[in-house]
Order: sequence, then structure tokens, then C-alpha cells
Amino acid sequence: MTQDLDFDTLTIHAGAAPDPATGARQTPIYQTTSYQFRDADHAARLFNLQEVGYIYSRLTNPTIAALQSRVAMLEGGAGAVCCSSGHAAQILALFPLMGPGKNIVASTRLYGGTVTQFSHTIRRFGWSARFVDMDDPQALEAAIDDDTRAIFCESISNPGGYVTDIPAVAKVADAAGIPLIVDNTLATPYLCKPIEMGATLVVHSLTKFMTGNGTVTGGVVVDSGKFDWSASDKFPSLSAPEPAYHGLKFHETFGALAFTFHGIAIGLRDLGMTMNPQGAHYTLMGIETLGLRMPRHVENALKVAEWLEQDPRVESVTYAGLASSPWNATAKRLYPKGAGSLFTFSIKGGYDAAVKLVDGLELFSHVANLGDARSLVIHSASTTHRQLTEDQQRAAGAAPEVVRLSIGIENADDLIADLDQALAKAAG
Ligand SMILES: *Cc1c(COP(=O)(O)O)cnc(C)c1O
Repeated sequence: MTQDLDFDTLTIHAGAAPDPATGARQTPIYQTTSYQFRDADHAARLFNLQEVGYIYSRLTNPTIAALQSRVAMLEGGAGAVCCSSGHAAQILALFPLMGPGKNIVASTRLYGGTVTQFSHTIRRFGWSARFVDMDDPQALEAAIDDDTRAIFCESISNPGGYVTDIPAVAKVADAAGIPLIVDNTLATPYLCKPIEMGATLVVHSLTKFMTGNGTVTGGVVVDSGKFDWSASDKFPSLSAPEPAYHGLKFHETFGALAFTFHGIAIGLRDLGMTMNPQGAHYTLMGIETLGLRMPRHVENALKVAEWLEQDPRVESVTYAGLASSPWNATAKRLYPKGAGSLFTFSIKGGYDAAVKLVDGLELFSHVANLGDARSLVIHSASTTHRQLTEDQQRAAGAAPEVVRLSIGIENADDLIADLDQALAKAAG
């Protein structure tokens, strides 16, 4: 198709033509591990990456390929690689860039699980992370050294719902000659397109708003295709002969698709964090309604946040969509369709009141998830951010008196009534 299709059209059509074998109009679940080669020469060409096709579902699968193509088009990227979870996507994104002794500079305001992954687990690979406040470009610049291979931030950050000035961060990354990786889970490409703002790579937990109904664990890495991996000797996996693929030079051979091919041919092949075709199918169906769901999420979140903010039992609300938020001007400038539907509020009465509130809610589900059609609540300090020190909890916006809400697409007045009765129980 030659015309530029609108976002809402892409959510339904991108990557999903009728099935060439049967004409099936919905993308079939290709529940197969392997694909028959036409002959020995075809097999050899596939293994040499001289021809694109299907070999084995750890690497590629038609249902997953449809999803990869859809997310890449929605984000405005050159290519995408799906994987088993959002956390897997982070490793898959870093893997071609990093090596022992190399570091990333990451935002202090990140999903708690990501802080743990970056603080501890990646050290097993000899990688490390430095955490800086992304609102301070000078601190960011100062944290970068010769061994820094990427900057990592979230567009809208979990759990506080703060927003990142992506163009300002991208400017620092460009000056340092390193890629900017943006976790776009909370915004989705409906609210934010990091690549248009200068990001090199976008990662998602597809588990959240993209699938949108709490059914799938999945992740994706989208590559803008715009980074020059050969401009320095910092990224030998992409620019130099790759020993893990008989000396293939990925950037020279695949150009804008170098990162995507590396992610499949080396990342999925050797790390094995593959998505399953069923999961890809559910996510494809979820994305079909992304353009309908996100405006309702945002509208409800604003109503609930405004109601909470004026309630005397509430200390403060973090939502960047509120006029009182220090991030409101950035949100209006860079996220004009809204600041998402995840935010926190501090309850008067500290840890004990927060726990009572969570137990008192009836419509909100107390779960460790977000981005569901259902409204969800969690007390981060006793759950998702439990592994962090209190200083880290406060820096991440998950202090003991803080409760996190993920506002769903129910009726906003019903959600407010539920919060009202639970606040009464918590204060009592
Ligand atoms: C949930 C989440 C992740 C991790 O994703 P999983 O699919 O649970 O592995 C990463 N980043 C953000 C912002 C998240 O909300």
C-alpha cells in the first residue's frame, strides 16, 4: 500500500494480510516448531541468512512475525523482535551493545523490576548500570564514560506516571554517539512515539496496555534503523565480523535491519527467550483496539486523579496529567494525547493506611500488573519495590505511604465510589 495509513488503521491491518495458504482473515496461530525446507539449497540459504524464511520457531514464526511487523509499523521503526516478556526485551536490546566491563546509564525513575535487573542481575554478565535523574541533562552527560553503551529510560515511568523529556535525553545520547533505549510500555505508541523524538530502540512489555487485558506475558524490541553502528568501534557485534555467526558483518550486510537480524539470529537463537505463537495471537487481537482503549484509560485516569487530589484523606497525587504536577508542562508538550493511566497517590496515615486501603477496595483488583481493562491497585513498597532500599523506593516514587493505581476502562464514577468507600475504611 502506498498511502500513509492512520494509526487506527495500522492497529488492525499492519503485518496481517490474509493467510497466503488458506485465505484465513484473522492471523492464524501457527502452532508449529519447524518448517519444511523446499530442498537442501533452500535450507542452506535460510541458514546463511541469504533468504528470509522460517526455520525453527525459537527464531521465527509467522504469527509472531505478523506481530513484529505490526509493532514496528506502529512505532515507526525499521524492524522488531518479539520475545517472552518485557524483561527479556531489555536483555535482548542490551545484548548486542554490551560486553564485560561495559555500562549503561539508566533513569532513577524505572519499573522496580528493571531497577533490580540493572542493579544486580546484569552484573553476572559483567555489565553495570549507573542511575541518574533524566531531568538533569548535565548529570546524565557526566555519568557517561568511554565504556557506556546506551542510555535507558521509560517514556512514562512506572510507578509514578512521570514523563521523560525524550528529545532532551536523545540529544545527550547523540552527542555521546550511543543509542537511547526507551521503554514505551506505559505510553504505548498511541501516546508516545519515542523514535520520532530521537530514540534508537524502543522496548515494550506487551504484557500491559498493548495486549490490554491481562492475558499474555510478552515483550518486543523495536529498532529505528537509524543508528550508525559503524561510526565508532563501540558496537563490534553489529559493525565487525560476528564470531557467533561465522564472521558475518551485520551492519554491512543488513543496513537498517542489522539490529533486528542480530536480535533473531544471535539473540533468540542463543538466549532462547522466544515468544509463543498463542501469545502473539492474543497480543495482535489486543492491539486491534488500542486506539479505542487508550483514550478511555487516559480520560478515566484524569477524572480519578482529580477526584483524589481534592480529597482530604489524600496527601498527594503524582499524575503528570494534573495541573499541579511538576511534569505537567512536559506532558502537555510531548504527550498531548495524555499522560497514561498509571499513577500513584500518598495516603495520610502512612504504610498502615495504604495497606488498609488496598484491602478495602472491591472493584480494583490487588495484583502485580498494570495496563489491564480492569482497574488495578498495588502497594509498591510491600510488593514490586520490596527488593529496593527505602532510598531507592523513594527515588523510584514508591515510598511506604504510596499506593499505585492502574486505571482501567470501566465507568469512572464507579471507580471513584470504590476509592471513596476504601478511603473511609483506611481512615477508620
Ligand atoms: C511490567 C514492566 C516491565 C517488565 O515486563 P514483563 O512483561 O513483566 O517482563 C518492564 N517495564 C515496565 C515499564 C513495566 O511496566
